[in-house]
Amino acid sequence: MEVADLEGVQRLAFGPVPSRRLGKSLGINNIPAKTCSYSCVYCQLGRTINMTTERQAFYKPEDIFMEVKRKVDEAISRNERIDYLTFVPDGEPALDVDLGKAISLLRQIEIPIAVITNASLIWQDDVKEDLLEANLVSLKVDAVSEDLWRRINRPHKDLKLNTILEGIREFGNEFKGEMISETMLIDGINYGHEFEKIAHFLKHLKRLDKAYIAIPTRPPTEKWVKPAKEEILNAAFQVFSEKLGVDRVEYLIGYEGNAFAFTGRVEQDLLSITAVHPMRKEAVKEFLKKANTDWRVIEKLLKEDKLIELEYEGNQYYMRRLPSRRKVK
Ligand code: SF4
Repeated sequence: MEVADLEGVQRLAFGPVPSRRLGKSLGINNIPAKTCSYSCVYCQLGRTINMTTERQAFYKPEDIFMEVKRKVDEAISRNERIDYLTFVPDGEPALDVDLGKAISLLRQIEIPIAVITNASLIWQDDVKEDLLEANLVSLKVDAVSEDLWRRINRPHKDLKLNTILEGIREFGNEFKGEMISETMLIDGINYGHEFEKIAHFLKHLKRLDKAYIAIPTRPPTEKWVKPAKEEILNAAFQVFSEKLGVDRVEYLIGYEGNAFAFTGRVEQDLLSITAVHPMRKEAVKEFLKKANTDWRVIEKLLKEDKLIELEYEGNQYYMRRLPSRRKVK
């Protein structure tokens, strides 16, 4: 095997890396940088070089399997756990015409398989069939209105938003695994009633385990892109949770918070919970009472700029300050 080939093969798998959504995830890079059907303004991989909607053969599924197997064996020898084998490449994973074959081969490893997709090709039968083979599928739903979709995701000219949304609906009717959505919010966009519209769309999917509200946490392609402000994140959270139920909505805002793991340290636990979802004032009071402490904890966290106080429709909420907006360490 030539050195170039060897290097190519070596880049097919990476990690395992910790992920709040997926636990310990071994990443699979089945697409050459940067081949995508979108060119999202916030993409951390830079502008799309190869903009396409045509599925192609990029790497041999057998090579992907071998490389993933090698990484899994390495991890096992170090006693490291792997929760998911995750297709999260330098582009759109469904553009790989052999995605289904790769998933079938990887089944032998007996670790659940996840695919993080922008969902733009999900309406195609062959793509849908491949994705149905995964244990978990994460779908991008940044907008359900044409103008916002075009502005944020900058799709390939042949793509149609309605077809994609219909494809997601159909996929949800058939998929038996875990289905999650991810909505990336950025500053400087007038979302208007978009959160209601997205929540309405998500609510009517037959299957949706969790709706994640995310912000860009790594340098974006376009310099003007900044993470949405806390006020916007809170508004989106409240609208989503009203429609979907509070248990089905979570933030992905750059902290590895876990609302369900209590350490017994009040400040730490409050910051972990509010990194995942905002807390209403009454809930915070209740929490402090149970922990045998008082409001001074909140005052301290606010002063240290670790927590932020927000108002939404007459209620007060507390959420963890976004890492990018903190003034002091
Ligand atoms: S879909 Fe993903 S890889 Fe493609 S441009 Fe958007 S963020 Fe980047």
